[in-house]
Amino acid sequence: MGILKDKKILITGVLNDQSLAFGAAKLAQQEGAEIILTGVGRGLSITRRTARKLPSEAVVLELDVTNTEHMEAVKTHIAKEWGKLDGILHAIGFAPSSCIEGDIFNAPWNDVAVALEVSAYSLKALVAGLMPLLKLAETSSVVGLDFDATMAWPGYNWMGVAKAALESLSRYLARDAGKDNIRVNLISAGPVRTIAAKSVSGFSAFDTVWNERAPLGWNVTDSSAVAKAIVAFLSDWFPATTGEILHVDGGYHAVGA
Ligand code: NAP
Repeated sequence: MGILKDKKILITGVLNDQSLAFGAAKLAQQEGAEIILTGVGRGLSITRRTARKLPSEAVVLELDVTNTEHMEAVKTHIAKEWGKLDGILHAIGFAPSSCIEGDIFNAPWNDVAVALEVSAYSLKALVAGLMPLLKLAETSSVVGLDFDATMAWPGYNWMGVAKAALESLSRYLARDAGKDNIRVNLISAGPVRTIAAKSVSGFSAFDTVWNERAPLGWNVTDSSAVAKAIVAFLSDWFPATTGEILHVDGGYHAVGA
């Protein structure tokens, strides 16, 4: 019997089988969850192809997190199919190239606004949009994916600022959703070579320093540890944990040099 037996989970951010959310989706099914995936725009057809690679093919719904009609349609679909929602994985991030290339002075506000809306505000949009269904579960869990925003990284620039906003937002959401037994936590993951990561100009530097410093070592092509942590947070095994940021980074965050 798996730790997600009978759980109904919405998983965003599966693009291909390297996506952090794909590893989580696969493990969630293996642990007994029923899942629905979401995809967006031109990536939607890739998400549909990727859904077939799961142990059990998952339904894929269209969801651009900035689109309130998509959000309403996802809520209606889940209400009809499941009648409640036990968990959400927010694995969404995007920043225009000006935000993740060159230096911090590079990006105009319009581009920064896109990065902040898609990568940070979207966590609130997702929780608020699906709140009625989360409330119908006995307890529910929302998990987001973070990259440590306590310091400045090469090339990460405005995406780093968006992650700082996401970290703060997760605490406010935890505060205001706790009364409805909804937990909100983040996993601060080490670097993994995904499509989103490849667009960050400084990514190769992460690979080198993680290799040198992470006490437990780190493999940028293996997201299985991140998947396990996501599934643990989605399960009933962290019933008294909310507003938390858990590092799954080989211990890199604990070591200064
Ligand atoms: P990924 O496979 O490229 O996933 C990013 C996902 O975000 C894609 O499915 C993308 O869809 C989706 N997305 C972008 N704009 C969206 C929108 N408006 N509405 C809905 N979905 C949207 O990359 P990933 O690395 O697994 O990223 C997942 C999360 O993990 C992100 O929050 C990322 O910041 C975080 N994270 C990644 C790392 C890493 O090293 N890879 C480390 C720490 C945290 P399309 O591509 O189809 O637009």
